[in-house]
Amino acid sequence: MSAAWEVVIGLEIHTQLATRSKIFSGAATAYGAEPNTQACLVDLGYPGVLPVLNREVVRMACKFGLAVNAQIAERSVFARKNYFYPDLPKGYQISQYELPIVGAGELMIKDDNGNEKRIGITRAHLEEDAGKSIHEGFAASSGIDLNRAGTPLLEIVSEPDMRSAGEAVAYMRKIHSIVRYLGISDGNMQEGSFRCDANVSVRPRGQDELGTRTELKNLNSFRFVEKAINYEIERQIDLIEDGGEVVQETRLYDSDKDETRSMRSKEEANDYRYFPDPDLLPVVIEPAFIEQVRSELPELPAAKQQRFVDEYGIRNDDADILTVSRALADYYEAAVGAGKSGAQVVANWVIGDLSAALNRDGLEIDSSKVSAVHLAGLLDRISDNTISGKIAKEVFDAMWSGEGTADEVIAARGLKQITDTSAIEAIVDDVIAANPSQVAEYKAGKDKLIGYFVGQVMQKTGGKANPGQVNQVLKSKLGQ
Ligand code: ADP
Ligand code: MG
Repeated sequence: MSAAWEVVIGLEIHTQLATRSKIFSGAATAYGAEPNTQACLVDLGYPGVLPVLNREVVRMACKFGLAVNAQIAERSVFARKNYFYPDLPKGYQISQYELPIVGAGELMIKDDNGNEKRIGITRAHLEEDAGKSIHEGFAASSGIDLNRAGTPLLEIVSEPDMRSAGEAVAYMRKIHSIVRYLGISDGNMQEGSFRCDANVSVRPRGQDELGTRTELKNLNSFRFVEKAINYEIERQIDLIEDGGEVVQETRLYDSDKDETRSMRSKEEANDYRYFPDPDLLPVVIEPAFIEQVRSELPELPAAKQQRFVDEYGIRNDDADILTVSRALADYYEAAVGAGKSGAQVVANWVIGDLSAALNRDGLEIDSSKVSAVHLAGLLDRISDNTISGKIAKEVFDAMWSGEGTADEVIAARGLKQITDTSAIEAIVDDVIAANPSQVAEYKAGKDKLIGYFVGQVMQKTGGKANPGQVNQVLKSKLGQ
């Protein structure tokens, strides 16, 4: 990207709130049901029915607001956003406009250089989701599934504070982590429970005024957010440098082609004719309710991360990774508590081998095939010298495949480390005898060859000799 241009990004994140019933009706919100089996008369937009606000969504929005240090509005108002679309039977969406439930807040992220950066949150408001059009399986017509209509959403709007795709993803990940910590959303991106619109513009570096933005709609993976924004940045810069102008418009990201395409321009944009919904009372929140919610907040990612650094003395970046989800953090703490190895060693394993195995099998930490207690048991066998770190990887894989605990795998596969000095000495003697030229070179000053000898001994013992001991014996036998 050209150094002459500064990128400006603001995100609108839609997160589906994890209530059992809808925001204004008693219909269920469960994902994946047969079309139109979870839409009652309110969701179907029948005349004469009235919406009733689900109290739980208010509590959830408050939780979010407090977690990002925002003002909670004592009085907020639902408004009708009018537009016509087949999946919107009422002809309007109930949202919040001038008076949202959550006001200005903030969040700290790491910028691309690893420095702390504050991102402003403009507001967060409650709204209902629309239904879904289905095009597959219908000849010359479309199906409408209204199961999703009326599902509660919290839309979180950021200030245009991000300066790269990397920052946008870092911000989105933080919000994702927070809503899951709070338990207000499952954050499932495949199911559309967490998605975002990215507003992107560029301006000559040093210019105060913002450039014309485009809005990239409905990005539902962190990778797509990054790719779509980067594509759009290049597109806008190329366009301007070729003498053109960016048009304010909505664009769609096509992940197959890795490009964004115009969907509708500002001229075609709807005038939503917002007005307060006369069917719903303003939401009035008592200060006591807010304090109640505050007292129920869990430890949040930023606080947990700091505690991990202070309490366990692990690296800052590692604490960041381990606190991405509550489940992962809990696993880590359980593993540290269950064994005798150092907290950093446990961190290395959780972030390294364990996470790799989870990723490979597409599993969440809750369904890890090696429990925290069993991982601790494995690491204890490294620290008491029963096995080397290298053999431990083999043991871990066996545990993952269901061969039992570390002790069971070590016994069944005969992996116990050779710590008997005379046994190691005998093998070292063999290796020295078999490699006269290397021994001569080593003695002539080629110190690096020690690694070669260690490798030979390890090979002969199937990796089971204690590496520290091997080193020691080799050095004394080779005369150093
Ligand atoms: P709208 O409601 O029309 O989408 P808003 O003014 O509420 O417009 O802005 C929506 C999002 O766009 C916010 O996240 C905001 O930070 C971002 N945004 C506004 N102007 C720009 C710009 N010039 N470049 C990048 N992002 C912008
Ligand atoms: Mg918008």
